[in-house]
Amino acid sequence: MDYLKLADLLLPTIHETPEYYRDLYPKRHLKPNTMVTRYAPSPTGFQHLGGVFAALISERLAHQSQGIFYFRVEDTDKKREVVGAIEDCTNTLRDFGINFDEGVIDSTTEKGAYGPYKQSDRINIYHAFVKSLIKKGLAYPCFCTEEALDETRKIQQELKINTGYHGKWAVHRNSTIEEVNEELAKGTPYVIRLRSPEESGRRVVCNDLIKGTISMPENDQDIVILKTNGIPTYHFAHAVDDYLMGTTHVIRGEEWLSSLPIHLQLFEMLGFTAPQYAHIPTIMKMDGTSKRKLSKRKDPEISMSFYKSQGYPFISVTEYLVNLINSEFQEWRYANENEPCTSFNITLENMSKSGALFDILKLNDISKNVIANMSADTVYGLYLDWAKNYDTAFANELIEHEDYAKNIFNIERENDKPRKDFVKWLDVKEHIEYFFDDLYKNSIIDSYNFPTHIPMDEVRRVLTSYIDVYDYSHDNDTWFATLKELSLELGYAKNAKTYKKNPDLFKGLLSDVATIVRVALTNRTQTQDLHEVMQVMGEKRVIERLSQNFN
Ligand code: GLU
Repeated sequence: MDYLKLADLLLPTIHETPEYYRDLYPKRHLKPNTMVTRYAPSPTGFQHLGGVFAALISERLAHQSQGIFYFRVEDTDKKREVVGAIEDCTNTLRDFGINFDEGVIDSTTEKGAYGPYKQSDRINIYHAFVKSLIKKGLAYPCFCTEEALDETRKIQQELKINTGYHGKWAVHRNSTIEEVNEELAKGTPYVIRLRSPEESGRRVVCNDLIKGTISMPENDQDIVILKTNGIPTYHFAHAVDDYLMGTTHVIRGEEWLSSLPIHLQLFEMLGFTAPQYAHIPTIMKMDGTSKRKLSKRKDPEISMSFYKSQGYPFISVTEYLVNLINSEFQEWRYANENEPCTSFNITLENMSKSGALFDILKLNDISKNVIANMSADTVYGLYLDWAKNYDTAFANELIEHEDYAKNIFNIERENDKPRKDFVKWLDVKEHIEYFFDDLYKNSIIDSYNFPTHIPMDEVRRVLTSYIDVYDYSHDNDTWFATLKELSLELGYAKNAKTYKKNPDLFKGLLSDVATIVRVALTNRTQTQDLHEVMQVMGEKRVIERLSQNFN
């Protein structure tokens, strides 16, 4: 067979060679040990936790080593493409602060000297590499129909032998140029297949940077590298891309481990040095007493839109994911309270081989701390960013009363032991809505939450007396002393011990009086520090609320 002739017959318009592209995308000049990594999703769905996890690990490793992290779109499967998936990905990367140095920015723009970064824009490049393989006799056209391949599979299954296109079953492997010409003349659709080395039983060994040494059977299938529509398969495209784009480390989910023999073979046959690999164990979750994979159907937390709609600050999720990457992070965090989590150097060696365990309670805990340590201005800004999309009415209220809102957010904040009320932005409203008169009024229409063991007449008497002693200028200590004095005067015990000794002598406890005031102001029995709440509400609002006609 004249392979040169075959190559020209199949790809007559391709004149560029692999060398041409090698020169066009020269080797990157980087210091030794710098890593070039990539996030290369297929736009077939929206971003999920596993993808962001892989992207974060890839980005951290590249940037920790002063290397390059780039974003490539692997859109070779046009049938499965989902509208908006690329934008969802770029937005997610941006939101989570996973900054890429090169890659697709949106459907019309990209940055970096190794592009195009979208596989559908690189078809000519792939064809040049396919052509060079054909010229070397390492790839060939196959005219089998789907039906013929199915038929072969059935026979192989009956014979209990390895299914697929290999060995003597690879019927077009040794077609003559005349046979090829004949099919082409008939217009028979064809794919291009790789001529895999025929020796079976060989194994490939790879040192995975997370999993350690892996030994797997070598690929013996003549895999498709170019589909009937001339578009390469993902396997082929990614090998060419990782080579031309200078990827040093491929970091991806372990679901790709079974494809590794194909990938290593492709690199070898194309004459490329393979990158190093790290296959990330799948994120698991406890279900009762057993572990299982997160499921799209059962676990909303698998999808990144969950964190967005619930209003988890992106930095909380990032911090949680860093914690999942390396559990050593936790200790580092204690020692470096005020550092951004990205100052922690992650390592692949310390990653769990068996799969990180997703625990939303841990995320919530981290997020509470993250929010508690933010300034009131930051909370205001981030909360509004979220609320503008998810609670417009309340966002407008906060925009209209910006100073008031910031004072509310500053309650028990910006101190050594800040209050940990909020896990996520969705929680904010229920904690602060009573500060706003309309929302407060709506809540009391439903019911008053005064302590049930105190009659309403007594509640009113306590409130009237409290208005007489209330003074906005009181500091916390004087405020409390005044409340205590009044309580004792009205016949309330200063504490539970005194009360229990002589219950008949008292109407209740000092804390009941505080609760009456609190409920009158907020219609809740639990709130942030009451003195601070009253200071933020302001004298006028406090008096107004205390002097309502509670009937
Ligand atoms: N495009 C593949 C995906 O959808 C990427 C696999 C890889 O990173 O090599 O996940």
